[in-house]
Amino acid sequence: MGQKILVVEDNELNLKLFCDLLRAHDYLAEPVRDGREAMTRARDFRPDLIIMDIQMPYISGLELIEQLKGDDDLKTVPIMAVTAYAAKGDEQRIRDAGAEGYVSKPISVIRFVEAVSGLLEAAARNAATAPANLVTLVDASVPPPPSAAKSDAEVFLEGRDPRFRGDDEQEEREEEE
Ligand code: MN
Repeated sequence: MGQKILVVEDNELNLKLFCDLLRAHDYLAEPVRDGREAMTRARDFRPDLIIMDIQMPYISGLELIEQLKGDDDLKTVPIMAVTAYAAKGDEQRIRDAGAEGYVSKPISVIRFVEAVSGLLEAAARNAATAPANLVTLVDASVPPPPSAAKSDAEVFLEGRDPRFRGDDEQEEREEEE
């Protein structure tokens, strides 16, 4: 049976894309559109990994990461944070909140899947040995090689598809102001 991944993301297109991508790699993806439901859904679903959007209405991903890491039942579940863009200090704030991994949009499909499998493997290793104090931070700052052919999905993820318009862009503008 595939490992279970809870995907917390308010942007419907990103949510569908992440879930489709995970299912294509034989993970069981469970979508959560409203961050306010994330804790309850995590308790019910018992995920092996949580993918957490940071920019969300009502409750930020950073707050949710802190809540999850403060919960005795859920704190060992690795969290991969996803940010709309990598601002200076974002990575540190995400690490401080307790996330094990971090990728910034635009996200390459390959890097996304590698980050997911890497975090799951690291968590399995840690579970077998010491308590998790893992920092498997994904370096999202390194661009993919220019020669790499991009799939439709990857182009979609990089925001070149006009359908890839979400609240994140609005939120980015707000944050920059
Ligand atoms: Mn968002």
